[in-house]
Amino acid sequence: MPSDCLFCRIVSGELPAAQIHADESVVAIRDISPQAPTHILLLSRKHIASVGEVGPADTDLMGRICAVAAELATREGISQDGYRLVVNVGRNGGQTVDHLHVHMLGGRPMAWPPG
Ligand code: AMP
Ligand code: ZN
Repeated sequence: MPSDCLFCRIVSGELPAAQIHADESVVAIRDISPQAPTHILLLSRKHIASVGEVGPADTDLMGRICAVAAELATREGISQDGYRLVVNVGRNGGQTVDHLHVHMLGGRPMAWPPG
């Protein structure tokens, strides 16, 4: 666990966050700067720098992240109207925190294409 990684520090409990889910592989928190009425971040417990670093050993984890997203969407009341899952990868993708996370945005219609 890189001690300078923001999301590793949140996942370990060292830094506070508005946590709404935690299991053996995934932690979900509310984004500190929400871009929609519901803006949740699904974090892997394992430090993986980005989707670009996901390997064959991580396929269960990626599936688990999607299952938790579906579970939380129902709990948050956005599953009916729909929502968007976003993974930013690297500089052009707009990634600012180098620890695997999936954004879940809902509660308003999303534009396409994204900016
Ligand atoms: P990305 O740009 O895809 O790497 O997303 C990083 C996200 O983390 C951004 O939406 C930030 O608002 C969010 N963020 C940064 N610091 C925190 C924090 N301490 N707690 C919750 N969310 C955070
Ligand atoms: Zn990390």
